[in-house]
Amino acid sequence: MVESIAERITNIKSNLPKSVRLIAVTKQVSVDTIRTAYAAGIRDFGENKVQEAEAKQAQLQDLPDITWHLIGHLQSNKVVKALKQFQWIHSVDNLKLAKRLNALAEQFCYSPNICLQVKILPDPNKYGWTITELMSDLEELNQCQHLKIKGLMTIPPQGLDDLQTLSVFQKTKELALEIREKNFSHLKTQELSMGMSEDYNLAISAGTTIVRLGRILFGERKNKKD
Ligand SMILES: *Cc1c(COP(=O)(O)O)cnc(C)c1O
Repeated sequence: MVESIAERITNIKSNLPKSVRLIAVTKQVSVDTIRTAYAAGIRDFGENKVQEAEAKQAQLQDLPDITWHLIGHLQSNKVVKALKQFQWIHSVDNLKLAKRLNALAEQFCYSPNICLQVKILPDPNKYGWTITELMSDLEELNQCQHLKIKGLMTIPPQGLDDLQTLSVFQKTKELALEIREKNFSHLKTQELSMGMSEDYNLAISAGTTIVRLGRILFGERKNKKD
């Protein structure tokens, strides 16, 4: 028998360590299916596009205890909308964007939770700080006092084997620890947003705190590029 979405959610949740937060990634997933996931206990939802999320959020206003997470690259012309629509932004991937968010957050008197997206290995297909770039931007990020900088987010490059993927996650964790040792007042890296359908068990072994799962809960997407 084919497992229902509710069954999949229940099974996956029961196998996650209690300390790991599950974000259901609902890009290309219908509002009805989001409601099914909500009924199965999901309260954290992830979307990669501001506009797609906006349309769904408008139809889900009767579910006020949802936490929305932006997990895709944020274009500068969508920053205001993103701030209004998402409690978490996992894909803050450069200093300019962080500063822009910080200025707007101050203006709106609202402090979003954010993660800094890092690239542990070179990857032309992904946004994010390299380790060296991030280390040199830390002081300025710590000045972004209207952002709640919570942790690091990473997506391993395509085509790695399990050991290589595990190593990316472990290095991200080490980087987070290294930053924590600097004891910044505003820049915290307690959280690790890493692990997707194909690699979340590896991320768990490396100590992730947030997994972002799409296909394993909702099935394959039509547009595979997303
Ligand atoms: C699509 C996406 C996910 C979920 O990926 P699955 O392979 O469907 O689990 C997680 N994180 C980001 C940033 C994504 O874009």
